[in-house]
This record gives sequence, structure tokens and C-alpha cells, in this order.
Amino acid sequence: MIHTMNVFKFGGASVKDAQGVRNVATVLQQTQHSNLVIVISAMGKMTNALEGVVNCYFNDPIKVKQALEDIKTYHWSISQEIFTDINAPVFKQIQELITTVSSFLQTNKSTNQAYVYDQVVGYGELLSTTIVSAYLTQMAIKNTWVDIRRCIVTDPNFRDASVDWQTTKQHISKNIAPTGITITQGFLAAEATNNFTTTLGREGSDYTAAILAYCLNAASVTIWKDVPGVLNADPRFFKTTTLLHHISYREAIELAFYGASVIHPKTLQPLQKKEIPLFVKSFYDPLSPGTCVGKGVTLDPKTACFILKKGQVLLSLSSLDFSFIVEKNISDVFILLHKYKMKVSLIQNSAISFSVVIDNTYNNLDVLLTSLRSTFRVSWNEDVTLYTIRHASSNDVKSLIQNKEVLLKQESRETVQVVIKD
Ligand code: ADP
Ligand code: ASP
Ligand code: MG
Repeated sequence: MIHTMNVFKFGGASVKDAQGVRNVATVLQQTQHSNLVIVISAMGKMTNALEGVVNCYFNDPIKVKQALEDIKTYHWSISQEIFTDINAPVFKQIQELITTVSSFLQTNKSTNQAYVYDQVVGYGELLSTTIVSAYLTQMAIKNTWVDIRRCIVTDPNFRDASVDWQTTKQHISKNIAPTGITITQGFLAAEATNNFTTTLGREGSDYTAAILAYCLNAASVTIWKDVPGVLNADPRFFKTTTLLHHISYREAIELAFYGASVIHPKTLQPLQKKEIPLFVKSFYDPLSPGTCVGKGVTLDPKTACFILKKGQVLLSLSSLDFSFIVEKNISDVFILLHKYKMKVSLIQNSAISFSVVIDNTYNNLDVLLTSLRSTFRVSWNEDVTLYTIRHASSNDVKSLIQNKEVLLKQESRETVQVVIKD
């Protein structure tokens, strides 16, 4: 018998406080799905707080204890608000999770920072899913808590692991029931050799939802957000925005790739392959249609879309002897960018100069610059903003860059990109 399953994903913002956790139950009651896999991120800014723990561990170990205590207090106070029974088992579970991560740090001998990072940051999701699962049980919403690390198998590339799809598919069908409600963690996975925890990259919970949907042949994925859906611009930076009712997979991939942080870029490919629709909806208003990403028209309504990526680095290279920048030099540059895990979001090349806009996620700019200086004349600007405008009219671009210092501009048929100094 084929069961229709759906996948829901609640991000950190939707479970950042007691009201948010209560609202998960409300969304489930209003949407009335019986076969659901629910993916949950760490509450609020807890992944950042856990990154802080890892930072202290390597740089200021005396502060680890307090940092973990603060994380425990945050979850504890939310739980005190939502659980009627002060002796509910969830309080003991929170304590146990905190004790486990603390003992890991006390006994760990590895100096591999990415490995330690993944063993620690995942506790945000383990804590949030434990609390939400217990709360739904209290509300008589029957559910099963599943450890996603038994389902998603990856390589050991800590902090940015790649999925082994075949094994993952087998593990998912073994560990996730096709009926009822399953609660599980976003962002986490495990590598195959030692079962060490890995992570799929920051904001990776959307991708988790897509992996599950793909492997379970789900009917749809819904990601619940603090916005009405995908808008034509980030409402934190643009005063007026338009809700996009429908976006094609292709267009959504482009928007996410250029940095529309409402959807994680890796989410869309697996869904597109099986034509599983992705809904982006408001968790304040569960019955509103929100945005549908799926087959069909590129963009409805057809309007310019603005994406901005802050905190980028614009790097410009020219050869020391003013000789041309050719394939060989460019390939050397890319070897270094790859080595230092710099994500490239724009490239521009002329006869004697080569510019790239990069994301310095792993703080490797200094080492990169040192390596480049032996071969190139290097200039760079830190903290620039990259604006990408899709389907723009020339007026859209003009008004965006008015009174701003434009460092670089690039235009193709559907996309205009400008790098602006803040
Ligand atoms: P989550 O709780 O799932 O982690 P995020 O905070 O990552 O949610 O994503 C939601 C936020 O994405 C919104 O609050 C909004 O500020 C931002 N955002 C960026 N670009 C867009 C866009 N094009 N449409 C809607 N929201 C956007
Ligand atoms: N909790 C993780 C993060 O904050 C994953 C996610 O929220 O998608 O990056
Ligand atoms: Mg997020």
C-alpha cells in the first residue's frame, strides 16, 4: 500500500520560544496531515551559541562551562513555560544531553576543529526535537522521535558533508515509518566509518527536509517561516516587498544560489528531480497559500527580485609584471580558493586583472592573501555587499545603486550583479 507522506520543516525562528513550540501544535492541528515527517532546527540562535562553545573550547576553555550552562538555561526556561508537570521526563533529558556534550569536550583528544564542531553544534537540534516531541505528546499528538544520524549517511567532510544517497535511502526506509508523525533533526547526519556526527552546512535543515522527501517519495515539503512566503526581496533590507505565489525550480535555484537566504541552495535539486513541490508558508498563518516552488511558470507575479549578500570580500588580482592573466594563473587561483574553502559568488576577468567576490566563511582570508601575494599584485575590499537583481529593468538597477559606491558591475540576460561598498 502506498501512503502519502508530507515533510514539514520548522526553522530556528519558528521554535525560538515557548509560544513558537506551542504554535507547532497549532500548525499541525490546522493542517491535519496524518503521515508527516517533521524536521526541526535548533531553537532560535542556539547553533550560534554552540559555535561559541566550540570557540571557547579551542581559544578560552575556562568559559566552556558557563557557555553550556547558558544553553541549558535557555532550553530549561522554555520547557518550564510549556510543560505542566515540573517532573516531566523532558527535564532529565535536557540535563542528559548537556552532560553528554560536556563529557565529550572533557575527554576529547582530537585537534580537528571541524570534527569537534560537528560533535558539539548538533546538540541544538537534539535538544529542540526532544522538547518539541515531548510537548506534542503532552498535547495528545502522537509522534515518534527519530535520530536523523541513523538515517542520513555522509562522507566525513565535517561541517559540509556530502550525502551518500544510496545508503541514506536504505536507512531512511528502515528507520522512518510511512505512517504517523515522525519528529527528527535538521542539519545533522553521520559518517559511515565511525558513525561520528557530521553536519550539512549552516542553515542546512531545509536540505534535510529535501533529502527525506526525496528518499520517501513525499507528496510535498513545507518550510514554515516568519515571512508569508518567498518575497521578491529580503524584508529586513527592503521596505516594500511582493509575495511570489509561484516560482519554478530553476528560478528558485538561481535565487537561493545568489543568496536569498529564505531557502538553502541545496534544497531544490533533489525536489526538482522528483518534481516534489516545495511550499514556503507563514507559521503565523498556516492556512494561507504562501509560495509554491514547482513545475510551471518561472515567476508569478513577474517582478524584479533583489538578493543581497553582506560581508563579502572583493579580491582583485593582477600579474606582478603586467603580463596577461590567462588560464594557468586562473587555475592556480581557483586551487587556492578551493584549498581555503572560499565560496565564489562572482567572477570578472580582463586582460591584466581578475576579480572575484568571495564568502570568507571559514576566516581564511589572511592565509589566502599570503599565498596569492607571491604571484600577484593583490588588492581587496572587505565587508562589501553583493546585490543580485533578477529580471530587473534598468530603472530597478538605477534606483538601487543611487548614492552608493559601485565597485563592480556585471550584467547577463536575466541577472545584474553589483558590488557595493557599505
Ligand atoms: P529559519 O527559521 O527557517 O532558519 P531563516 O531566518 O533562515 O528561517 O529564513 C527566514 C528569513 O529569511 C526571513 O525572516 C527573511 O528575513 C529572510 N529572507 C531573505 N530573503 C528572503 C526572501 N526573498 N523572501 C522572504 N524572506 C527572505
Ligand atoms: N541550526 C542550523 C543553523 O542554524 C541549521 C538550520 O537552522 O537550518 O545553521
Ligand atoms: Mg535558518
